[in-house]
Amino acid sequence: MMIISENIHSLKSYVVQKFKSHRVMMDSIVYLVKGEKTALIDTSHFVTAEGLIQKMRYLTDFDVEDLSYILLTHSHADHSGGLSLFKRCNTKALVACHESGKDSVEVYGGVTPDLSLHNGDRIDLGDGQVISVIHSPGHSQDSVCFLTSKEKALIVGDSVGPGVDDAFERIQSTDDDSFGGPYVERIPWLGVLNDAAAYIDTLNTLGKIDFNILLPGHGVPFSGSMAKQYLDRCVAHFDLVDKIITEIPENDYKLLVEEICKKYVGLGFKGLPREPWNMCVFTFETVNAFLRRQGRL
Ligand SMILES: [Zn+2]
Repeated sequence: MMIISENIHSLKSYVVQKFKSHRVMMDSIVYLVKGEKTALIDTSHFVTAEGLIQKMRYLTDFDVEDLSYILLTHSHADHSGGLSLFKRCNTKALVACHESGKDSVEVYGGVTPDLSLHNGDRIDLGDGQVISVIHSPGHSQDSVCFLTSKEKALIVGDSVGPGVDDAFERIQSTDDDSFGGPYVERIPWLGVLNDAAAYIDTLNTLGKIDFNILLPGHGVPFSGSMAKQYLDRCVAHFDLVDKIITEIPENDYKLLVEEICKKYVGLGFKGLPREPWNMCVFTFETVNAFLRRQGRL
């Protein structure tokens, strides 16, 4: 558990699962936002939700039974998969997701959402705490970000590529009032899955918003100047990959990996991605699709 501010706490629980020969860590971060009413942002996976519910009960002042809203940043299974378990504890919390994600939430979360979210919607939690909804497609069509009025915390889900790091547990111990510092220079994950053009538009839109804290669905939260700085790194990362990819023959993943790793160092990113191969294959395909659509490939 990490206390982001008096009214925002984050929780994470994870399990390691084996897929073929790989071990994969299943996790995502959920946030509790408090006004007079309380909202839970995201539910994590089905397999990690029970752990989160236990953590909420024993580590925070928030009660699962008292949640008024469960707001989803998007429908992916690692964000909406735990929905049915939270709803089992609390049947009165209203579940909300972007209007385009309702069917997928039903599939992955096992619950029919009560409310559809649209860009510009405001959810009043009382006590001066209002959550604004920003539609942020790119990672998925149904992605939204949530901006809290009190702290100006921007909760982004996967709309902004999270840092490739599992430092979450370690940064909890900091007694500094800012967080994320050492990790701002890590290479952000290029969080595109669905639509690269929409993704970069979203990053630019978010860059114009006044926020003090950036809270991702995975990785590390950032506060103060580092929050904006991190967003800039994500844009720089996208531009970098965009440039390299136009110079590399289609499907030459190996050359792409080499070139990207070389350029990362040149840009001052610290460290290299743990799994550059997977990351670059993923990057290559999504950005290729983007360039093809623009007629540049
Ligand atoms: Zn996602």
